[in-house]
Amino acid sequence: MGTVEWTPSPADGTGTFVMRTSTALYPFDVVGDPEAAGAVAALGVGEVSLAASYHAVRAVTPRHPRHRIVTAQRSAVYYAPDAPTWSGRYLQPSRAEGKGVRDSFGPALDELRAAGLGVNAWVVLAHCCGTGGEQAASHVTNAFGDSYPWALCIARPEVVEYAATLAGEIVGRFAPDGVELEACGWYGFDHLSAHDKVHAEQLSAAERYLLSVCFCEACAGLYRAGGIDLRHLREVVTGSLRDGDGRPGPNGSIGSVGAEDEIRERLGGDLADALLGVRLAAADRMRRAVVSAVRAAARGRSMFLWLHAQGARHGVGGNVGVDPSEALADVDGLLYGVPADSPAVIAEAASVALELSGRRVGIVVDVLGAKDDGGARLAEMVGDARDAGATDLHLYHAGLASAEGRRILAGLVDGFGS
Ligand SMILES: [Zn+2]
Repeated sequence: MGTVEWTPSPADGTGTFVMRTSTALYPFDVVGDPEAAGAVAALGVGEVSLAASYHAVRAVTPRHPRHRIVTAQRSAVYYAPDAPTWSGRYLQPSRAEGKGVRDSFGPALDELRAAGLGVNAWVVLAHCCGTGGEQAASHVTNAFGDSYPWALCIARPEVVEYAATLAGEIVGRFAPDGVELEACGWYGFDHLSAHDKVHAEQLSAAERYLLSVCFCEACAGLYRAGGIDLRHLREVVTGSLRDGDGRPGPNGSIGSVGAEDEIRERLGGDLADALLGVRLAAADRMRRAVVSAVRAAARGRSMFLWLHAQGARHGVGGNVGVDPSEALADVDGLLYGVPADSPAVIAEAASVALELSGRRVGIVVDVLGAKDDGGARLAEMVGDARDAGATDLHLYHAGLASAEGRRILAGLVDGFGS
């Protein structure tokens, strides 16, 4: 079930890993439902990834006795931000409101722990709908000058300060067993939102990447320092996007291999590499500031720190593109989305993790909508990732899942260690 001993094959190196499983939950899935924590523990998972700071959401709560649809219009925290901590800061978190929603993180954490579950605080950072409000300068601004009020630009000092303060506050206040950092790096154009009129058919993955490249003053300074001619970069990006009609490329993930080829073709290899280098360095700085705030807030207490990641270095979003060697130098583990990332990506990260003491690689698997085949395809993908070296399975999402989705979830947990 949730925690079993597992010894990797000799080819994987030496040592024994404890296989671990977790499932995502919102605090409002738990608070006000006396059955919730026990029912989640009965799924066999050892841990829960509980949202503490989260983007705007419209969520179904299929089994909650008091509500069925919970809506948060903007990014919010599920606790009361500490006024002295935030006093005078340029960017401020907003507090989630609503019955069973406001300040629900702490009570949900207590109930889950009482049911025997470990709790990871799920902390969403640069994906920040509405945060910044009037301070549009803090948002990612594309090559045309359009601002994205759902994406904070992580090259900006006030954004790094906001992210580090927020993550540190959650750890210092609630002492969770672990932390999962989502959107701890570049966020960009892609954004699931209600009333969206930006169909994938209209923009290829490479075009969406180019629309994610920020041209704010802070980024302009980084480009200049990195030897990139700002005017040339803007002309190439805007020219390429104006030219987009009739050049449909792959429209899957921004991180797909086809997208990377198309980006290099559109920007030229040298410029694409220079741009990626500058952006990765900014993401490394932002992540290190957040990690250092989290470690300081933990005050020496053992606490596992995850980063939601993707294999493509230029990838943007909740799962940020990373070099696993750089990222595992400061976080304890990398969580990759499956099947978005292949077993080869998992194996690369797992080989880096094996060389570092205590580092782990996990996968996040979405069980929603898998009921057509009873979860058989997911079980196969989980098996492939485990064979590639994944030691942790995080399942999305016990709160949103239907009864059948929960049966599939429990089946994947049961099969993970066997
Ligand atoms: Zn910027």
